[in-house]
Amino acid sequence: MAEIRLQANTQPKTLSSLLDLSLPELTAAVVELGQPAYRARQIWQWIYRHFVVDFDEMTNLPQGLRRTLAEEWIISPLAPVTRNLSSAADTQKVLFRLADGQTVETVLMLYDRRRTLCISSQAGCAMGCTFCATAQGGLARNLTAGEIVAQVLYFARYLAGAVAEPAMAVERPTAVTNIVLMGMGEPMHNYRNVWVALRRLTDPGAFGLGARHITLSTVGLIPMIDRMAGEGLQIALAVSLHAPNDALRSSLVPINERYPVADLLAAVQRYSEKTHRRVTFEYALMRGVNDSPELAAELADRLRPLLCHVNVIPFNPIPGSPFQPTSDADTARFVDILRQRGVPATVRLRRGVEINAGCGQLRQAAQRKAA
Ligand code: SAH
Repeated sequence: MAEIRLQANTQPKTLSSLLDLSLPELTAAVVELGQPAYRARQIWQWIYRHFVVDFDEMTNLPQGLRRTLAEEWIISPLAPVTRNLSSAADTQKVLFRLADGQTVETVLMLYDRRRTLCISSQAGCAMGCTFCATAQGGLARNLTAGEIVAQVLYFARYLAGAVAEPAMAVERPTAVTNIVLMGMGEPMHNYRNVWVALRRLTDPGAFGLGARHITLSTVGLIPMIDRMAGEGLQIALAVSLHAPNDALRSSLVPINERYPVADLLAAVQRYSEKTHRRVTFEYALMRGVNDSPELAAELADRLRPLLCHVNVIPFNPIPGSPFQPTSDADTARFVDILRQRGVPATVRLRRGVEINAGCGQLRQAAQRKAA
């Protein structure tokens, strides 16, 4: 693995980011500067089609306007701090600093044809899952819609070849093909900003990624699952289950006390009845904790009535934490039991372990270094 320092300790300017504006808001801002409205559409295209990060790249704008814009606005609110690259160069993680000094992580994974981006929705997280690195620092704050969108635009630019830094083994086509909200934070706990971002990312007039190529992963905030069912956008839903019963799940995922397994599964049932979509359950296997054949059978029996799929996640060990990954043989056995009992299941590819690509691990390491 390699860690590349991307910037000295520069802080993004505290000016407002254009990424926090909708097109009508951007148009109003441009008109306020005494400019014709069509300039807003030009700026919009530069940002969402060409991923520019500097007003001087907007070559069809008058120089004076570029200067005025740069005095009042920034484009991206993210300053990249480090890039960690796996030795196979197929996974990388960038740590970004925000204007107020908070940091967030984004991971890019290259598969055969897919380029999947794992993005963060909050700086930190309030959910307190006992096995998760992000949980350990608690919640700092919600990300703005612009801060969420900016993570995608950064990598869109990177993949398009415009970021002049040591590149990954990238083959064409070089565009972001999939996005998962599985980085830091609980997306349903920052519902409003996350959905502004998702609409921008799927808007054919903006970033324009197909909604079916985006997955939102939640710890299981039931009212928000019901709300998502009414959004009318084909974003895929993944639910972090990790245990088939309340006693075990509450010990891993404390929010289970408020939204217990039976209620959560009923919410998923409502969701798939309304949207006709198959829901993914994530199940991170921890040795001796939630990986026994009995628990696999219990899980299968509870999930069989649902339109669902189980994604078994090899556990990513966290320094200082007692949780350990299940062996490959026991993982295969767990998956077999689910399948034999009629529940489709797959094991997630293990990626990024050597670069601490698990949720919150890089930020945690950076904070430890700084302390
Ligand atoms: N808050 C959301 C999304 C962020 S985490 C959620 O809970 O779904 C994305 C997934 O990674 C979740 O399923 C989470 O439980 C899991 N996860 C967290 N820490 C992990 C670890 N150390 N190893 C494996 N999976 C982990």
